[in-house]
Amino acid sequence: MRPKGDSRCRVPFFDPRTHYRRLKSRLDAAFFDCMEKGDLIHREQLAAFERHFAEWIGTAHAIGVNSGYDALFLAMRAAGIGPGDEVICPGHTFVACVSAIVNLGATPVLVDIGPDQNMDVRLAEAAVTNRTRAIMPVHLNGRMCDMEAVMDLAARFELVVVEDVAQATGAAFRGRKAGAFGIGCFSFYPFKMLGCFGDGGAVTTDDADLARTVRRLRFNGEDPETGEYHDHGYTALLDNVQAALLDVKLPYLEGWIEDRRRIAARYREGLAGVGDLVLPPEPAEGYRDVWQNFVVRTARRDELRRHLYERGIETLVMWKKPLWHHPGLRLGSPRLPECERLYREMLYLPIHPELEDDQVEWVIEEVSSFFAAPAVRRGPSAPSLRGAEAGGRGNA
Ligand SMILES: *Cc1c(COP(=O)(O)O)cnc(C)c1O
Repeated sequence: MRPKGDSRCRVPFFDPRTHYRRLKSRLDAAFFDCMEKGDLIHREQLAAFERHFAEWIGTAHAIGVNSGYDALFLAMRAAGIGPGDEVICPGHTFVACVSAIVNLGATPVLVDIGPDQNMDVRLAEAAVTNRTRAIMPVHLNGRMCDMEAVMDLAARFELVVVEDVAQATGAAFRGRKAGAFGIGCFSFYPFKMLGCFGDGGAVTTDDADLARTVRRLRFNGEDPETGEYHDHGYTALLDNVQAALLDVKLPYLEGWIEDRRRIAARYREGLAGVGDLVLPPEPAEGYRDVWQNFVVRTARRDELRRHLYERGIETLVMWKKPLWHHPGLRLGSPRLPECERLYREMLYLPIHPELEDDQVEWVIEEVSSFFAAPAVRRGPSAPSLRGAEAGGRGNA
């Protein structure tokens, strides 16, 4: 989000208005269609989007829910995870992952990350106990976890695999999309790969029983055909209007992914060997990366961030400090040195389909000029950068 009233911001981190304008006539038509028909809750537009989304991901079912959080929560609840169970998840992720686990009465077991910023699956194996029920690979920044290793581990220890695909809609491994390996949990938060115009999410699965359970749980436990309440559920449907708008956007997603891949390739080329900058590693063989975020690392992160801000380039730091540094989350004090180091060094450069070529070049130029100049000692990050921090949900 653009700092309010800041006209210097020449490269915004997100650009929701341009994004809307590019599809305005189609989006407006879908919106007015819902209004004219009075199709607001649980109507055909929701069913149509779910069909198209399931087909695109390559699963038998997609169930639209309120948010990515709800997708995680309802997926795990439907899989029977609850008090006494442990769920392994990465230490570097959005808070919703651990909150969904805690709110089910289960215990999150945080493990450290590898150079790809995703869960280190060898450490996940070491964290398995006789209470472990599930593993939650989070495909961060548009990059999939090592799903061969995750699926192998899950098979050996009979773990439920809950994929957090919130930042990686469209990513794939050997042609199979993220969300088609385990139970897929997606977010349609506006700045994710496929965003709606408010909150939204989905669960994907091939398991008909699990799909039916999630469908009921999101609808207060009710079977809409019979009116029977099968359990105590939640009010957690994906809004019909949001589904209609998502259905308009879905056919464009492939093109937007290509835009992101092109920008990432240009950043990688233009920023190679600049200063102490560490660029995201090449995607491993067989993996298709969708570049939800482009995260660089540098020991001079705060200085670089200020330099870019002063030149009209908006960057983000997500998140401010590790989850277990928030006493309110009661996560104890795990020792995750790779996560700790990342929090000091990471900086998110702008990457989204609305970014023009000259904006990308401007970013490369300004990052390079920062490292070309002699270092100046300065204080911690300026409070004026705060306005740009609002997008705390990992995205971008
Ligand atoms: C955004 C996000 C979520 C949660 O999605 P919401 O729709 O915001 O509830 C979960 N996990 C990750 C990694 C995310 O980035």
